[in-house]
Amino acid sequence: MSDIIKILPSDVSNKIAAGEVVQRPSSVLKELIENSIDANSTRIQIIIKDAGKNLIQVIDNGRGMSRNDMHLSFIKHATSKINKIEDIFSISSMGFRGEALAAIASVSMLEMESINDDQNGHFIEINGGELIREKDSNIQEGTSIKIKNVFYNVPARRNFLKSDFVELRHIIDVFHRLAISHPEIEFSFINNEEEIFYLKEESLNKRIISIFGEKIRENLIPINENTQIANISGFVLKPEFAKKSRSNQFIFVNNRFIKSQFINHSIFSSYDGLLRDGYYPGYFLFIDIDPTRIDVNIHPNKTEIKFDDDQNLYSIINSSVKHCLGIYQVSPVLDFDKDPSMDISYDKVKSQPTSPNIEINSDFNPFKDFNDEEMSKIFDEDLPLNNKLNLEGDNNQALKIFQILNKYIVSTNKSSLIIINQNLAHQRILYESFLKSIFENYVNSQKLVFPIELSLTKKQLLLYNKIIDEFKSIGFDIIVRNELMLIESIPFGIEKNNVEEVIEKILNEDFNTSNDFSASDFFAKRLSKITSIKSGQKLNLDEQEYIVNHLFSCKEPNLSPDNKQIFITLNKNDIENKFNG
Ligand code: ADP
Ligand code: MG
Repeated sequence: MSDIIKILPSDVSNKIAAGEVVQRPSSVLKELIENSIDANSTRIQIIIKDAGKNLIQVIDNGRGMSRNDMHLSFIKHATSKINKIEDIFSISSMGFRGEALAAIASVSMLEMESINDDQNGHFIEINGGELIREKDSNIQEGTSIKIKNVFYNVPARRNFLKSDFVELRHIIDVFHRLAISHPEIEFSFINNEEEIFYLKEESLNKRIISIFGEKIRENLIPINENTQIANISGFVLKPEFAKKSRSNQFIFVNNRFIKSQFINHSIFSSYDGLLRDGYYPGYFLFIDIDPTRIDVNIHPNKTEIKFDDDQNLYSIINSSVKHCLGIYQVSPVLDFDKDPSMDISYDKVKSQPTSPNIEINSDFNPFKDFNDEEMSKIFDEDLPLNNKLNLEGDNNQALKIFQILNKYIVSTNKSSLIIINQNLAHQRILYESFLKSIFENYVNSQKLVFPIELSLTKKQLLLYNKIIDEFKSIGFDIIVRNELMLIESIPFGIEKNNVEEVIEKILNEDFNTSNDFSASDFFAKRLSKITSIKSGQKLNLDEQEYIVNHLFSCKEPNLSPDNKQIFITLNKNDIENKFNG
């Protein structure tokens, strides 16, 4: 037989690598900004269009590149940041694998202009990894890189991108992380021609206030602890500022944003007794640690990290946070009701019909396409632009809502009418909330005095074994022996009497890898379908309001977990056409 092993052509291998480095527009933005930071820029401008799908541009005033370096920069493993293998262990720059630009260039149309030292500025254009044009440029300083049509040559990925709203959310997350860890850099951020952030060079606490708004100021408690293992600094937020989501949790190791369950847990337990159930503390924690004691390279996106000595670090962080909460004499008697957030906690999911305390944004218009401003106003409880109003109380701007056919909720807004399918809307609300519980591992369960026994078929048992973790993570405590299931605890919110039915129904349908991304996705979909309010069910006003408000605080309010349209809108034109048609 002839030889069959081939070395992949570089454009193919770059595209494959691109899948690791570049998942979505926000990952492109992250790599570009990190390169600008590594180039010692003091000013970085970001320009994006259509949530980065059509344009992501980063302009900096950093050291720039020579012509030759511009050519090399988009070749895989071309990096100016490491020379020998030891460098990897003591690296302090953001990127160092030399694969980001190559990966990005291979899946987009890229234009780069740069000027370096005494050379003249230069311009190059690359499509799908191929150099197609170059010329002189009159760029005055630094580097400007434009990424157009990301994934234009990988339709599977392009189609996989989420709505502009979701992609922009990711982009803003990335921006927040980098802006917080680099308050010494001036940033401006233009989205669809509108400047949505301008941050001048400032101190860390001012930067946090500039991003999250004035009301965070009095909640910032400084933390500062130097130990042999690590130095801890930054701010933790008073328990009054705790949220029902983890959106205010920022951890940076050697000034790089990371995710770490065990650090989150360590801080969370420092707040023991200070937080109401279901609330998470906020923090901006900077850990400085000898780079040889960590491994940042375990994940291509480098947001995960391994520590040599995580047990000691756990205790150091835990006691530092306790210490600073103690110094600021945070009292355990707090009035949490002042700041209810829009997030639903798991235990409210099923027992919602009692007069929910919901805040909505009076300016919210579900008929408009979501733009960045809408998004930051309505969907991010943490942004300063937030201007919420309480539905309760006699506010004449409150939404007018009613139900028709025991199936749809009708709501009006300035000039349009919105008709929501109650069942699909509730599925969406539950689905996001279940996923959240699964991923955040926030267990909220009740022990049953008399465990429930259920006998399973072989097929059900097989499926159960695939989704054991999901069952656990939302609060089921189940023992299986032979073909008998013993349910000892159930999540709050699921009625005891329904448990058998719910479990049976979940286990009656195997998951289908073409529709379900993962076991978690399957589980959340099934459970939301089974436990949602059905068509035909009469809803009182509170329930209707609950659905409308929670639907529009979902990440993807348009589509049900099975991709069915949740609501339709009739605007002035639609209505007038009906009369004239
Ligand atoms: P890495 O950052 O891992 O080195 P990249 O593919 O992100 O790899 O970038 C490749 C090289 O291109 C960098 O090492 C750097 O020398 C150069 N480079 C990229 N962006 C910039 C920039 N904005 N300013 C100066 N040099 C840059
Ligand atoms: Mg880089």
